[in-house]
Amino acid sequence: MPLNLSILYRGPLSSCNYDCSYCPFAKHWESPEELARDRASLARFVGWIADRPQDVFAVFFTPWGEALVRRWYRDAVVSLSQLPNVVKVAVQTNLSCALDWLRHADVAKVGLWCTYHPNQTTRAAFLDQCRRLDDLAVRYSVGCVGLREHGEEIARLREALPPSVYLWINAYKDARAYYDQRTFDFFAAIDPLFPINSENHASLGRSCRSGSTVVAVDGDGNVRRCHFVADIIGNLYARDFAPALTPRPCPNATCDCHIGYVHLEHLRLDEVFGESLLERIPAHWRDGRKDDLGCGVAR
Ligand code: SF4
Ligand code: SF4
Repeated sequence: MPLNLSILYRGPLSSCNYDCSYCPFAKHWESPEELARDRASLARFVGWIADRPQDVFAVFFTPWGEALVRRWYRDAVVSLSQLPNVVKVAVQTNLSCALDWLRHADVAKVGLWCTYHPNQTTRAAFLDQCRRLDDLAVRYSVGCVGLREHGEEIARLREALPPSVYLWINAYKDARAYYDQRTFDFFAAIDPLFPINSENHASLGRSCRSGSTVVAVDGDGNVRRCHFVADIIGNLYARDFAPALTPRPCPNATCDCHIGYVHLEHLRLDEVFGESLLERIPAHWRDGRKDDLGCGVAR
């Protein structure tokens, strides 16, 4: 039976051109050998997808670090977008790279998850990049970590972005009771889905699409159901890989990251995000009105 599979790909890459204080990949530079290994792993992955015309794939690059400053990831996005058996190529990025290469992609299939880091770039420079994406007709979401000290900056970003662009805010969860009610409401007024992100969703024993219709793959082809469960369920490059894709309940107590909990069936966030689930754009996002989001079904 043909596969219809979303793959979250995270190769060995572990470096970034930015220097966020909380991040282990900040200004980490890899050796030529490490980069060559990452490049070869990605080439194998793209080749595997290209060699399976009978199957349908959505690919989401969720790198440790920044991938789009590396030419082989830009080339991979272009190549994958042009394959008839690929319906989506999404990437998490800090949006610092030049963007002209996207002219060569089938942009109807590309989605960018763009994180704004106020300590690393200016709002003006980030917005310039967003305008370039608009000119290129590339769909994207924009977001920030909801640090309290960035509240005003995030609000200014929201004001400057076209209303048609969704701005998400990731709740900061490393400190207990981090938000008072006023700050919580402030962020929720900017991102109507912030209350959902701020929860650690109870997931133990709950049905989750990861492991059946969505999986996480590393550079060696090891397949895990998601980035948050370490067990390897198979290898992408093994002949008998497909039977490993079966529904399984979640083994973790909670799931607190968007790229995980969106696959919990009872949250019904597939109805909220539709075909842009991977790049985090609500399906009916128009001008930020909560009525547009189907939020009522997502609790
Ligand atoms: S941009 Fe992302 S990967 Fe790079 S240092 Fe900041 S948090 Fe880490
Ligand atoms: S609920 Fe989250 S942690 Fe559990 S299997 Fe799904 S994605 Fe993984």
